[in-house]
Amino acid sequence: KREITRLPEWLKTPVPVGENYKKIKNDLRVCEEARCPNISDCWGGSSKSAATATIMLMGDTCTRGCRFCSVKTSKTPPPLDPHEPEHTAEALSRWGLGYVVLTSVDRDDLADGGARHFAETIRKIKQKAPTMLVEALTGDYAGDLEMVKIVAQSGLDVYAHNVETVEELTPQVRDRRATFRQSLKVLGTAKASKEGLITKTSIMLGLGETEEQIWDTLRDLRATSVDVITFGQYMRPTKRHMKVHSYIPPTVFELWRQRALDMGFLYCASGPLVRSSYKAGEAFIENVLK
Ligand code: SF4
Ligand code: SF4
Repeated sequence: KREITRLPEWLKTPVPVGENYKKIKNDLRVCEEARCPNISDCWGGSSKSAATATIMLMGDTCTRGCRFCSVKTSKTPPPLDPHEPEHTAEALSRWGLGYVVLTSVDRDDLADGGARHFAETIRKIKQKAPTMLVEALTGDYAGDLEMVKIVAQSGLDVYAHNVETVEELTPQVRDRRATFRQSLKVLGTAKASKEGLITKTSIMLGLGETEEQIWDTLRDLRATSVDVITFGQYMRPTKRHMKVHSYIPPTVFELWRQRALDMGFLYCASGPLVRSSYKAGEAFIENVLK
């Protein structure tokens, strides 16, 4: 409780929930699980064609243990549900949302890291709801770039993979199997796998990164032709997770947004409460389909 009272003003937001969200949340594991503060922005406000939902695939148990993440972990999570691709596509086509972000836990226990299951889900969605825009937010498939291609060529519109932080802090922040360079390869491979594919990544600020390190990160990402970037504030999920180094003011987030656009990123969402899928549908429609 004390932790909360120490939060800066700009992070104390109520979480009103839109009608769209209430209707949908019973069907699948969606945004709510990530305790995301943006539900009313993503689901509630704008037109249905721009409404964005994040769906978690492949269970709730991850084989990795990143120090910022509250998802539960195990070396041997339960097996995949073979009906998940079909069921997910069916539920999504019923809701008629405009944009869906599919994400998943990392499944290092599976030979293909779950890439085929992921790709199958995307294909099924595109069959049942051809106009729905699909973003896949994947892990790094332990550097197996063939798996990245399988997902990138499955019919999706945006391939997202988060570098999460600057290169220097990666060993302290992400699971030891994840490296910054490997993540760049994932993003570069996705971009080269399909003409016109949009690639996207996300960085948390407030972990102790320096301004120069952020610049270096942005340069590396642009050199890898990453199209879209988001910046958000790192929030400590529990006392067992990494401490917040600093709360970055909204004005600084705005500065990074401008800098990212000046560097040639197609669009950038940046703010204390921004998550990688924040209003992704609206942003895509305004910046890519325009
Ligand atoms: Fe969380 Fe993803 Fe890391 Fe797994 S790989 S612990 S889901 S951030
Ligand atoms: Fe859902 Fe992502 Fe929007 Fe949060 S930012 S409400 S997880 S779509």
